Order: sequence, then C-alpha cells, then structure tokens
Amino acid sequence: MPVAVIGGGITGLSAAWELVKQKRDVVLIAPSPFGGLLRSERIDDCLVECGADSWLAAKPWLRNLAVELGLRRDVIPCNEAIRQTFILRAGVLHPFPRGMRMVAPTEWKPLLESALLSPATKLRMLLEADRGPSSAGDRSVAEFVRDHFGKEAVEYLAEPIFAGVYGGTPETLGAAGVLPGFLEHERVRGSVLRGAMREPKPVGPLFESMRGGLGQIPCEIADQISGSARIIRSPAEAVQPGRVRVAGEWLPAEKILIASGAPSSSKLLAGTVAGELLAQIRHSSATIFAFGFHQNQLTNQPRGFGFLVPRRERRTIMAATWVTNKFPHRAPPDKVIVRCFVAGDHTEALLVDVLDDFARITGIDAAPFFTRVYRWPDSMPQYGVGHSALIEQIEAAMPTDVHLAGAFLRGVGMPDCVKDGMNRAQAIGLL
Ligand SMILES: Cc1cc2nc3c(=O)[nH]c(=O)nc-3n(C[C@H](O)[C@H](O)[C@H](O)COP(=O)(O)OP(=O)(O)OC[C@H]3O[C@@H](n4cnc5c(N)ncnc54)[C@H](O)[C@@H]3O)c2cc1C
Repeated sequence: MPVAVIGGGITGLSAAWELVKQKRDVVLIAPSPFGGLLRSERIDDCLVECGADSWLAAKPWLRNLAVELGLRRDVIPCNEAIRQTFILRAGVLHPFPRGMRMVAPTEWKPLLESALLSPATKLRMLLEADRGPSSAGDRSVAEFVRDHFGKEAVEYLAEPIFAGVYGGTPETLGAAGVLPGFLEHERVRGSVLRGAMREPKPVGPLFESMRGGLGQIPCEIADQISGSARIIRSPAEAVQPGRVRVAGEWLPAEKILIASGAPSSSKLLAGTVAGELLAQIRHSSATIFAFGFHQNQLTNQPRGFGFLVPRRERRTIMAATWVTNKFPHRAPPDKVIVRCFVAGDHTEALLVDVLDDFARITGIDAAPFFTRVYRWPDSMPQYGVGHSALIEQIEAAMPTDVHLAGAFLRGVGMPDCVKDGMNRAQAIGLL
C-alpha cells in the first residue's frame, strides 16, 4: 500500500520528494496549482512573486533541496550592498539600526545614533545587560519585550517585525513560539542583549531566492517525481487510519502525511480529538499588492529592501518590499517592482487606498504600469502562548499512522517547512 501525502505546498512536496528518494510507493494528493505560497508570475519582462519571496540563508534546508534538484545555479543571493530596512515613525522612514537581532541590539553605535527610539528607551535597552537569570517562562511577546526593553520597543520593533513574519500582534503571539532563543538567553543569563551578542554573527547574504522565481522549486519537484509517484490533482476530503477519501472514493494508504495546513487538517480529521485541537490554531490573512513602475517615473529613488509600518502609525500598508533593490534580477534596470503587504483578506477595491498610502509614505505618486492583488486568506499560523504544548497534545491525539507536517507546527519559514516535511517523511520511512 502507498504512503499518501496530502498537500502540494513546499511541505508536502518536500515530503513526497524525500519518500520517492527512499523508493517508497507514494500518492501525492494535491489540487492545482502546485506550490502553495511558492508561486511566481511573469508580467512582461518582470518576475513577480505572488506569495513568499525569499528565504533566510542561515536556514539551509530549502537551498539544499534546490541543490538536490539540480538547481544550484539558480539560487541567487539578495543584493547585500543595499541591505537596509526602514521603519516608519511619525511619517519618517528611519533605518532599522544595524546590528539588531530582532528586538535586541548587539551594537551600541547604530542604536545610539538612531532616531527611531527615544533616548529613554535606548538607555533602558543598554541597562538590560545587567539582568540576572530568570525563569519567567512563556508569556506574550508584548510582555516579554516590554519587560526587557520597554513599551516603545514593543511598538516600534516587535510589533512591525512580527506583523511582517507572523501576521500577528505581540499581544497574541507567544514568546516561546517565536523567540525561543531569547527565552533561553533569559533563562541562562537573564539578559537577552548579552545572549544575542554572543550569538555567531551571520555571514554571507541574509536572504536567498530563485533566479526563475520560487515557483521553480515546486515545478521541478513535480516534474522529477511524476515518473515514480502517483499524483492526484483533487483535494482530499477526509482521512481515517489506513485511508483517504478523494473525489468520493476511499483510497487505501499504509501511512498518511497531512501537509495541507492546520485549517484543512482540522476538516480532514473532523470528529476526532486531533481535529478539534487543530481548529484551536488561529490564522491571520494577508494580501499582497504588487506594482510595477518605470524607473523614470520615480521622483524619489527607493533605498534599501523596504519598510515596515508599526500599527501605531495607523496606515493601510503593513510593510513594503522594493523587490528590484533586494533582487535586481527580477526586472530590467529601467523598471521597479514593489510589493505592499496589507493585513487581512482584501480585493482590488483596496487598490486606491494602498497606492495612496504608498504615495504618502514614499513620496512616489506615479501610476504603476501593472498592478496585481494576491490574496492569502487564513495563511499565517499564529504561535500563541503555550503553542508547543498545544502541538504536543495534537500529535499525541493523532490517529494511528496519520502524521502532520507544516508551518503551523515548528516554524513558519519555507526552510522550516522543508525540514519538517523531510523529517516527517524520514520518520514514516523508518517506522
Ligand atoms: C503572504 C506570505 C508571505 C510569506 N513570505 C515568506 C518568505 O518570504 N519567506 C519564507 O521563508 N516564508 C514566507 N512565508 C511563509 C511560508 O511561505 C509558508 O509558511 C510555507 O510556504 C507554507 O508551506 P506549506 O506547504 O506548509 O503550506 P501551503 O503553501 O499553504 O500549501 C498547502 C497546500 O495544501 C493544499 N491543500 C489545502 N487543502 C487541501 C486538501 N484538502 N487536499 C489536498 N491539498 C490541500 C493547498 O492547496 C496548498 O497547495 C510567507 C507566508 C505568507 C502567508
């Protein structure tokens, strides 16, 4: 009997790839289009990412997968020469101080020179180095950051950073889920700042992506496994031990790996304890508004990789990426691609507001030559307080020989998903 993998996002595809390598009989149940959040679109001579845009180079698992697939030459670094993110405060874009590890400074000079934070907060941050070990344990990111670095650090660092990565707020995200290393520094040393300073400094490019867009990876996996695995292009409807229902028919499976996200997994396991627990994982939605400009239309040249907008600034846009600064390969030199992120699930109806907001923040008031809206409803799992305990409960409640993998478990980044998918596949192969 085959192993059934449900979901054709990067998690499910990585798992299917690993199982095929192990010469297992695999059925991949994945409705079109393949790739989930890894999808790229060509618009004239521009390449636009519809969902995810790059991975953290320090996490090697997606790059390793690209290399295994024979795509080594297509892995591209970000343009380190102009790596800089800005944070909006009172209408001004301030550089994110160099040497920050998320909310913890590891270099004094850039912090002291920055106008993003008040002198009182900077002093408070420096004094954090004097804290002794503590075992306060998991609490909200807001409580954790306020305790170590003060309220302003929550509003102008933690809030915009975590809104960008998790689509969540510091009040609802749990520190153990999203800042596990910092919690460990607190436990061992007391000071997050001293702990962060001892972490190895990242070398090489911060981000990597694919020359032909991230969509290259799912296409390549689908091509390479199609000779060995059976691929069913319809959604799974229900899962029970030893079988999966697809298009009204029960398909027998020795083992089942569900990699279709928590909301879908919860529905597939409806009526089970695991299904009920899975429904407790909250998700937020995001919409990406992508724009193409002609370089000569821009009065203000964009600097850096983009900017983050704290909630306190009360804007429509939550973050924006200057795509062609980060990855110049995405368009010819006379074109500029921008992606703006807005929290929630929105349609084209918001386009005018987004462009208006963009113009007020950047001073760029030009009409784009293309606009696109990519909607990602319920796509960002929220790691709340007690997240790992909930995951343990879910895994303990899973029906026999049914397993889970994906962004809602042990890390939301694409590399984490690859690692999780491959680890689960290896475990299934060995069990
Ligand atoms: C807007 C946005 C931007 C992001 N940007 C980045 C980034 O730049 N870098 C980074 O590292 N991470 C980024 N992430 C996170 C990362 O992209 C995701 O965590 C990761 O891609 C999730 O992969 P996945 O395969 O687990 O899930 P998904 O990509 O959601 O794929 C799940 C698949 O399962 C399928 N499915 C659903 N129900 C069923 C069913 N019943 N039967 C069969 N199949 C089903 C879906 O169609 C989908 O194809 C971003 C996330 C979002 C929302």
